[in-house]
Amino acid sequence: MTVEAWIVGARGEAVAGAVAAVSELGGRVIAVIVGSRESADAAAVSGASEVRWFETAPDVAPEAFAGVFGDAVASGQPRVLLCVDDASSRVLLASGAARMAAVVLGSAGKFSLDGSDIVVSRAVYEGALVETLVVTGPVAAVYSGALESPLEGAAAAPVIRQGAGELADIHVTGREETLGGAEGLAHADRVVGAGLGVRSKDDLSLVDALATQLHAEIGCSLPLCDDMRWYDHSYVVGTSANLIAPDLYIALGISGQPQHMAGVRNAKVVVAINDDPDAPIFRRCDYGIVGDLYAIVPALTQALKEA
Ligand SMILES: Cc1cc2nc3c(=O)[nH]c(=O)nc-3n(C[C@H](O)[C@H](O)[C@H](O)COP(=O)(O)OP(=O)(O)OC[C@H]3O[C@@H](n4cnc5c(N)ncnc54)[C@H](O)[C@@H]3O)c2cc1C
Repeated sequence: MTVEAWIVGARGEAVAGAVAAVSELGGRVIAVIVGSRESADAAAVSGASEVRWFETAPDVAPEAFAGVFGDAVASGQPRVLLCVDDASSRVLLASGAARMAAVVLGSAGKFSLDGSDIVVSRAVYEGALVETLVVTGPVAAVYSGALESPLEGAAAAPVIRQGAGELADIHVTGREETLGGAEGLAHADRVVGAGLGVRSKDDLSLVDALATQLHAEIGCSLPLCDDMRWYDHSYVVGTSANLIAPDLYIALGISGQPQHMAGVRNAKVVVAINDDPDAPIFRRCDYGIVGDLYAIVPALTQALKEA
C-alpha cells in the first residue's frame, strides 16, 4: 500500500523537510505552493513528485486562496496533508483539512505506514520526548520536523500552474516596516544570539540580562524557534530568516552551522561563547571564549553593569 501526501505552503523554500518526512509513505508527494514563481521553482527541487502552483499577486494575501485550495483538496482527496509552519500556510491547511474530514495535528515530524494506518511521530515537551500516534483515517498536520535544504543537483519536478478560481476578498492595502522582531534585528548595532546551549526557557533570562546591559537586540538559532518554540520566527538569525549586519554579534551556545553563520556574515565583530573547543563557530568568529555560558554570561553581565 502507498499513500499520497500533499504539502502546502506559501514559501517553496521551506517544503523540503516536509517532503522528506512523508517519503516512507511510498506514494506521490505533491507540493502545493500559494506564492511566487520563485517559491514554486524552489519547491520543484524539494524531492516532491509535482508542484501545483497558485500564483499570488502582491496585493493578495495567501489566505485569500483558502477556499480555492479547499476545493483542490476536495477533488484530490490526499490521505495526508501537511503544511509548513507559518501563519498563512496554517490557514490553508485548516481549509484543506475540513474538506478531507481529516484528523488535525498541531505538529508532526515523520510519517510511516503500519498496514493501512498512518503512524506519526513528533517531538513533545520541548523536544525531550518523541511521541508516536496512529491515525486510521486522513490526517492533516503542521510539519514541525527539521528543515532540509532543497536537493542539490536534483531534476526539477514539473510545476503546474493552477487556475485561481474565486478568491476571498482580502486585499493588502499597505506594508510598513516596524522596529519589532525581524526589523529590529535587521537594523540592530548589537545582537546577542541564543542557541541550544541554553538548556531551558527560564534560562533565557541570562540572555535577556546580557542583551539589556549591552542595549542589544536578541536573536536565536533556528531550533530555538522551530523545535523549542521559545522564540517566534522573526528572531531567527540565518538563511531561513534574518541576515544581519550588527557591529557586534555575541553567540551564546551556538555551534556555528553554515545556515546560521551565513546570517552574521556581515557582522563586524563576532564573539562566540561555547563549551566545546571544537565547535565550528570558533573557526568563524573574531573572539572565542571556550567555557560554560552559565558561568561566563552572568560574569560578563555583572562586569558590564559595573563598568
Ligand atoms: C534548510 C535549512 C535551513 C536552516 N536555516 C537555519 C537558520 O536560518 N538559522 C539557524 O540558526 N539554523 C538554521 N538551520 C539549522 C542549522 O543547520 C543548525 O541545526 C542550527 O543552527 C543549530 O543550532 P544551535 O547552534 O543552537 O544548536 P547546536 O548545533 O546543537 O549547538 C549547540 C551548541 O551549544 C554548545 N553548548 C552546550 N551547552 C553549553 C554551555 N553550557 N555553554 C556553552 N556552550 C554550550 C554546544 O557545544 C553546541 O556547540 C537550517 C537547517 C537547514 C537544513
